[in-house]
Amino acid sequence: MLPKLNGVTLPHRKNTAKMPAVKMTPPRLVTIPMNMHIGAPAVPCVKPGDEVKVGQLIAEAGGFVSAPVHASVSGKVKSVAPMLASTGTEIMAITIESDGEMAISEDCVAPDITDYDSFIAAVRASGAVGLGGAGFPTAVKLDVKDTSRIEQIIINGAECEPYITSDTRTMIDDANLIAEGIELLKKWLNAKQVIIGIEKNKPEAIKAMSTLCDDTVSVKVLPSIYPQGGEKVLIYNCTGKIVPEGKLPIDVGVIVLNCTTLAFIASYVKTGIPLVNKLMTVDGSAVAEPKNVIVPIGTSMADVFDFCGGFKEEPHKAFYGGPMMGIAVPDLSAPILKNTNAIIALNKADSVLPEPTPCIRCGKCVKACPLKLMPVDFARALSVKDVEMLEKRKVNLCMECGCCSYVCPARRPLVENNKLAKAELRKYQAAKKEENK
Ligand code: SF4
Ligand code: SF4
Repeated sequence: MLPKLNGVTLPHRKNTAKMPAVKMTPPRLVTIPMNMHIGAPAVPCVKPGDEVKVGQLIAEAGGFVSAPVHASVSGKVKSVAPMLASTGTEIMAITIESDGEMAISEDCVAPDITDYDSFIAAVRASGAVGLGGAGFPTAVKLDVKDTSRIEQIIINGAECEPYITSDTRTMIDDANLIAEGIELLKKWLNAKQVIIGIEKNKPEAIKAMSTLCDDTVSVKVLPSIYPQGGEKVLIYNCTGKIVPEGKLPIDVGVIVLNCTTLAFIASYVKTGIPLVNKLMTVDGSAVAEPKNVIVPIGTSMADVFDFCGGFKEEPHKAFYGGPMMGIAVPDLSAPILKNTNAIIALNKADSVLPEPTPCIRCGKCVKACPLKLMPVDFARALSVKDVEMLEKRKVNLCMECGCCSYVCPARRPLVENNKLAKAELRKYQAAKKEENK
């Protein structure tokens, strides 16, 4: 038996787990940013006044690690202009005024896949990125060149953040697409072993995925402990393998794919309709009618919340993703992105964080960290700008899961500290590299 990784037990709040996704009425306007993925921003190839249809290419990939972007509604391009992203940086975005027709572009034809290269090219053209929240371009992840390196492909159905149930619904409602996706992985990536990792608090999803099992496909039922869906945690719990520092999963023979991403790829291969819609969970104590919704990418959060009956209480905090790793937005004009798997709005009582008090050296943060890091030391080293200590203590490995903050009885903002500490370390290492040139 493998030694257990740490983590925390959270209230699941999977209120929407039994709700199949409903399609949202298309909005009047969508604003589609060019940085909905990790890597180089996409480069717009339309201009104001152009007529576009659903699925039409509106921005090309900006490099190898990048992804193209497609129109999510039909209508007229209103603007191609910078917008302020939720991260506080300016990013180019394309705004399209919908004509209400949702006419599909003639360019949407099923790709002709004849070999590994054409499969990777198809995934690239689909605009796929990690739909579980990571946003890493899927074609780059699958582009391993030598497929004999792949020992296991893990389908991530862990979905360990509270509230979020969009992957759960995909596994239940689109099991056929996941099955087709697995066949694609077997055929073009020569996948020898496929493991579908699911937390045990999703019995319906486990049942649906168990129907896909054969001698190469298995379901791994995992404890409901956050962050079970974290890539390194999932790899360890499904295979016993540890991804060494500075290495990628493929370096230990593993690829991890989110289950909704895989279902999307299967759908694209059949229809040629690229990534223009997003299935996501809408929930939180301020939301009148929590739902799973399929939304055109670029729709504003405000429009999605309206579709979910508006607010039953004034929202004090809204964010993309779950409460542990989500990103707060300054206002509800923020658009739905390719990697938005949930939007949550909380009332005042659930939003206000208690004031931090001094550290009592209880060590709970260290005990909770799934990567066995020492967040209490990061905080101390950051406060005195001891970057060498941050490097020695490996703050760079922190995956910002928030377990340490969650358990801290003094309510110290540990994960925020870790983010700042990582930024300090990156600056220091870049300067050192420059010096040594
Ligand atoms: S946020 Fe970082 S330090 Fe804190 S528990 Fe998660 S991985 Fe460990
Ligand atoms: S959990 Fe909080 S109080 Fe306890 S050692 Fe860590 S930072 Fe200090």
